[in-house]
Amino acid sequence: MKLVVGNQKAYLQKSEVINFIEKTKSELCKNAVICPSSLYMEYFKENSSYILGGQNVAMLDTGTATGEITAKQLKEMNAKYTIVGHSERRANQKEDSEMLVGKIKRLYENEITSILCVGEGREVKEQDSTKDFVGKQLIDVLDNLTKEEIASLVIAYEPVWAISTGGAPSVTPTNEEIADVVSYIKDLVNDKYEVSLKVLYGGSVNSKNIETLNEITQVDGYLIGGASVKPDEFNYIMEKCLQ
Ligand code: PEP
Repeated sequence: MKLVVGNQKAYLQKSEVINFIEKTKSELCKNAVICPSSLYMEYFKENSSYILGGQNVAMLDTGTATGEITAKQLKEMNAKYTIVGHSERRANQKEDSEMLVGKIKRLYENEITSILCVGEGREVKEQDSTKDFVGKQLIDVLDNLTKEEIASLVIAYEPVWAISTGGAPSVTPTNEEIADVVSYIKDLVNDKYEVSLKVLYGGSVNSKNIETLNEITQVDGYLIGGASVKPDEFNYIMEKCLQ
C-alpha cells in the first residue's frame, strides 16, 4: 500500500471542507493522510476517519509565538504527520535549513512524523544539477539531526516546476526521472546516515497519471496538492493506492 498524503493548502472554505468529507467518506479514508488548513483540523478530527497531518509547525515550542502552531498543539489534534519545508514556505516564508531542523526536532519530541520536502526549481533542472541540489537540501538538514530523528522522517521529492499553480498546465517528470531522483535520495540517506526512509513523490499527481506513477517501484507514496481537494480525484487516487 502506498502512503497517500493530501496537502489541502489554503484552498478550501468551511462549506467545501464539509462537502469534501461527505463525498470522500469510505473505508479507505482511515489509511489516507489529510493535511487540512489548521482552522479545519478539529472539524476533520471530529467528522472524518482520515489520519491527520499539519501543513507546518513552529520551530520553537513556546507560547509567545503569535500566529504559530506548536507541535504540542498538533499532537493534541491527533496529528500523526506534518509537512516541513514545503517549497511554497521555503519561497514565501523564507524557511531555511536551520528553521527546518528546529521544526523536525519539535515534531520528533511530540511523536509526529515530519514529511520533509525537497525538490529543484526549473533552472536547476535545466542545468542538470537536480541531484546536487536535492542532495544539499537533504544534507543541510540531516547533518543536524540525530540518527533517531532521521529515522523518524518521510521525505517528499517535489520538483518545484511540477507543482501545479492552479492555472498553468501541469507538467510531470517521466517515471524514469522520478525513479532516478528517488533512488538517489534513498541511497544518499542509506550510505551517509545508515537509515532507510520512505520517499514520496509530489507534483501534479492526479487521477490521470496515478496509474502510470504507481509503476515506479521506488516511490512509497504521494504528496498531493490540487487533487486532494477534489473529491472525485481524491477518491480515485485512494482507490488506486490504498487497496
Ligand atoms: C504540493 O504543493 O505539495 C503539490 C504536490 O501540489 P500539486 O499536487 O497541486 O502539484
